[in-house]
Amino acid sequence: MVLSSVLGFPRIGVNREVKKAVEAYWGGKISADELTKVSAEVKKYNWTNVKAKGVDLVPSGEFSLYDHVLDHSASFNVIPKRYLGHGLSALDIYFAMGRGRQADGVDVPACEMKKWFDSNYHFVVPELSDETDFKLNFNKAVEEYNEAKALGIETRPVVLGPVSYLVLGKPAREAKPGFQPISLLPKLLPVYKQLLAELKAAGATSVQIDEPILVLDTAAYLEKQYATAYSELVPVAPKIVLTTYFGRLDSNLTFVAKLPVAGLHIDLDRAPAQLNATLAAVKPTSLVLSLGVVSGRNIWKTDFQAAIKLGQKAIDTLGSDRVIIATSSSLLHTPVTLSSENKLTAEQKDWFSFALEKASEVAVIASVLSGSQDAQVTALLEQNKKSIAARRAFETNSNDAVRKRVAAITPEMLNRKSPFAVRLEVQKKHLDLPKFPTTTIGSFPQTKEIRTTRAKLGKGEISQAEYDKFIEKEIETVVRFQEKVGLDLLVHGEPERNDMVQYFGEQLDGFVFTQNGWVQSYGSRYVRPPIIVSDVSRPFPMTVRWSSYAQSVTKKPMKGMLTGPVTILNWSFPRADVSREIQAKQLALALRDEVNDLEKAGISAIQVDEPAIREGLPLRRSDWDTYLTWAVDSFRLATAGVTDTLQTHSHFCYSDFGDIFPSIQRLDADVISIEASKSDMKLLQTFKEYGYSNEIGPGVYDIHSPRVPGEQEIKDRIAAMLEILPDHLLFINPDCGLKTRGWKETEASLANLVAAARWARQQF
Ligand code: GLN
Ligand code: ZN
Repeated sequence: MVLSSVLGFPRIGVNREVKKAVEAYWGGKISADELTKVSAEVKKYNWTNVKAKGVDLVPSGEFSLYDHVLDHSASFNVIPKRYLGHGLSALDIYFAMGRGRQADGVDVPACEMKKWFDSNYHFVVPELSDETDFKLNFNKAVEEYNEAKALGIETRPVVLGPVSYLVLGKPAREAKPGFQPISLLPKLLPVYKQLLAELKAAGATSVQIDEPILVLDTAAYLEKQYATAYSELVPVAPKIVLTTYFGRLDSNLTFVAKLPVAGLHIDLDRAPAQLNATLAAVKPTSLVLSLGVVSGRNIWKTDFQAAIKLGQKAIDTLGSDRVIIATSSSLLHTPVTLSSENKLTAEQKDWFSFALEKASEVAVIASVLSGSQDAQVTALLEQNKKSIAARRAFETNSNDAVRKRVAAITPEMLNRKSPFAVRLEVQKKHLDLPKFPTTTIGSFPQTKEIRTTRAKLGKGEISQAEYDKFIEKEIETVVRFQEKVGLDLLVHGEPERNDMVQYFGEQLDGFVFTQNGWVQSYGSRYVRPPIIVSDVSRPFPMTVRWSSYAQSVTKKPMKGMLTGPVTILNWSFPRADVSREIQAKQLALALRDEVNDLEKAGISAIQVDEPAIREGLPLRRSDWDTYLTWAVDSFRLATAGVTDTLQTHSHFCYSDFGDIFPSIQRLDADVISIEASKSDMKLLQTFKEYGYSNEIGPGVYDIHSPRVPGEQEIKDRIAAMLEILPDHLLFINPDCGLKTRGWKETEASLANLVAAARWARQQF
């Protein structure tokens, strides 16, 4: 019989209960016990509903109040010293590591967060050194396994594997130079042995051990570590299903297939082509193969026929007892359930599958493959056939004008009229900015008033005209403030935007929006990505009205503000029937029209933000060039249609460009702004080494904290930057937008920034 399995379920609650409870706990409004009660309810909902959909292997242990990697660190006693000795409870230490703590005389920043592979989820990075004193503080896997069992539900616990856990970590501050976290494997394995032995004793028959780093190039160097780890763990553990996702095993398959584990899970959503090689490799072994045929990363309904074909192929080679039908990865990256959506049309709703619906999909596919003649299964199979056919029919309804435009993109459309050196001179004259021009990254404080006024418009309590008037007033306030404080290149402040991607998605054709399609980004921060469903085009200008209004109330130059094509794509659920490249180019053409319209409206600088360009980087090095080519081309397509006098800007929230440096240069933005206040100046050094030639504004202070940077501090930063960067190319700005800040600190910080820039003009 073919079993079905779900690798992990969203842990936010069907109505974001976990966010609400966690934030209430942080605010001192509920107790730890009440928080535990909410968690228990959410876990119960997940287990009972996944089970009710007919799934055989229901996951447990992957629930989290903040982040699952942080859960492992807390459980393994990987707790940096700075969080200890303040008299905090274990739970408060846990949250302090996740988000920092500034209360009652305790002032500790959060641990570093990193993107979870190529997703928009962030994990808390473990800090490791030779002093790390691993021990099992608590056994979350056993606790949750028992919790589910008490509800009458047998689950398969999920644990992050020891090799991935260490490789995802970083050297702690006290680590010796050259220290490598993986060197701690022998010290960590006893803890895993204890964890898994306790799980076995509790009655778990199998365990899902995630080793996602197996889809990275780096895993090729870890063959020995994998062999050691799993030969030690297998004898004491329940049956291990070694789980990989988000990519392909490639050459790592050779050693993975030899590990003494009971099963292997591969991602056939992201890497369907790896099925043949995997079948060949596991055939002579006794491994059970878990096929990730239901995507854990997108929201599209699975094509049952296609999935069944893959499953049948595996059965033909291995026999049905050695095949599991599964989600490709945890469903953490999808919203909880489609049944919360009331505004999608019936046609649209029929295209999608969220986490709960995906749980049903694995169960149905597995039943069919097991030869089920059940009438309900047959009906669901028929229904799926119809849904898929309807979606395919919709997909053939392309917007021919858009398709033709993409096909007609010429190399000239990607190039500015003149090279940067020429543009620099023209723009200096046209914009008439002083040396070391000051500017900001776009948004100004999104006050409560702005948010409630937008909510009122949504509820129909005020008219569109009233709302627009309100936004104009906000823009004028922001402009007057910038004039008063003495900034040089102004912005309108983005008060009209609910979100930098959603705002554009709502105005473009080709997107749909959910009401409750929340996905965890990090901790209690959830996002609701728009969904691209068809060819993208721009029916009307999107920002021209606001930028022109802002320009009309000042004589200083106004910078238009757009989100770039790659960022809109990466922070949306893309369509599955058309490549990401085509979708990025369609977005780029829509933005190109917007950029050109802004120029026509008298705007002389335009910033196109691309903070997500790096996170879209493929996991395998060999795929980078293809991605970077179309990603950079898309940015150029969006921005190159203007005359030489128009100054293009781009913004990134980071500065460790490392290997993608040539691509940043190839964007050919006249000015880029990057984060540089948290990371040391070493990163600017890289810019120098690579010979970056265009203008650059390394952030002079960190906007992520309410702290006001002193004038002297900013002067010192500018002086340090000028040791590295040529003075005729330097812009002075904060390191990101100000939307999450209050007005008070914004005013004080920007006054100091302007004063420091004025000083620099005298000094250098
Ligand atoms: N222009 C945007 C802002 O200032 C940029 C946001 C971002 O970099 N994530 O808010
Ligand atoms: Zn930013």
